[in-house]
Amino acid sequence: MTSNRRFRIAVMPGDGIGPEVTAAALAVLDAAVGADAGFTLEYEHLVAGAAAWRDTGSAMTEDVFERAKAADAILFGAMGLPDVRYDDGTEIAPQLDLRFRLGLYAGVRPVKALAGGARPLADPRGADIDLVIVRESTEGLFASRGKGTVEDDRIARDTMVITRETCERLFDASFRLAARRKTRGGKGRVTCVDKSNVFASMAFFRKVFDERAARHPDIEPAHHYVDAAALDLVRKPWEFDVMVAENMFGDILSDLAAALVGGMGMAPSADIGDAHALFQPAHGSAPDIAGRGVANPIATIQCAAMMLDWLAERHDVPACAEAGRRIDAAVAAVLAEGRARPADLGGADGTEAVTRAVVDALGAFA
Ligand code: ATP
Repeated sequence: MTSNRRFRIAVMPGDGIGPEVTAAALAVLDAAVGADAGFTLEYEHLVAGAAAWRDTGSAMTEDVFERAKAADAILFGAMGLPDVRYDDGTEIAPQLDLRFRLGLYAGVRPVKALAGGARPLADPRGADIDLVIVRESTEGLFASRGKGTVEDDRIARDTMVITRETCERLFDASFRLAARRKTRGGKGRVTCVDKSNVFASMAFFRKVFDERAARHPDIEPAHHYVDAAALDLVRKPWEFDVMVAENMFGDILSDLAAALVGGMGMAPSADIGDAHALFQPAHGSAPDIAGRGVANPIATIQCAAMMLDWLAERHDVPACAEAGRRIDAAVAAVLAEGRARPADLGGADGTEAVTRAVVDALGAFA
């Protein structure tokens, strides 16, 4: 073993089912990263979220923020509780602050159908769904968060903000992602999703996309209006590879796409910037099922695999990517062979049973 690289992981379990699914992901990571893996993960557990705000008056202290910032990666459960809100009625969502403050501009949301997973589309080719939605995460319509206005109880306004700087980084990241996927059998295509036929901001978004596409000649650029993209995500999702969209459009389309492969319990996500990255399931804190041990941990387990892949690429530690691939293979085997079936996929297995099945399956991929 030539090196034993240590990665410090900030673990932020958060609220609701957040702690349950985070514990599941950590158990799987422990099983996937053995003593002789060539790298180690050190966890620092950090408290933040709606319950923290209710108990201490701070959703995320500066100290917690600084510790998360100093970590090599952040593994995040879910934050927010419907009955715990700021005085203006908005939800407590420190994850949005982390996105803005750490410059996590690319929300990467893989959508992959697995044999044995749920498949609402009747088409037998449903199993071919393997796409990634890259959602811009620091501007777009969300730039208006906290700045919208309501005049005289008559007119409300929020403003869309698209900057060249963020677009260039976002599109370059999307083309790099498509290139990396191409080496693993991906289609090598990036589709720009916009509404450039109506909005100046969206025409600008597309213009910058075309400029950056010219710098990535090995990847095919494509365009889709957002309404047509919603239609085609249901009609023929297997034709997409990487899709890149403004914040609000990406928010909506990624939930739609998650439904194609089994819903929120099967939807991992990563918020990635140039220097930091946060990995969290696309679902929220699901207070309706919290504490009952029935949450599907697969999305968060897949987040752990994404985190290993990102650390591997960033620090050139192939063993780390290998561990991530083993986790993905174990999840696929558990579903395909029916070793466990989470409740949200119509099965009877709770969080612990699904986690145990993935840990057991990892043995076969050592
Ligand atoms: P947010 O706005 O924070 O994204 P939300 O209120 O839109 O959250 P979720 O918390 O994601 O929604 O929950 C939506 C529905 O999906 C709920 O019925 C919840 O129980 C279910 N759900 C979410 N995550 C899971 C999971 N991991 N396993 C099973 N069911 C889940």
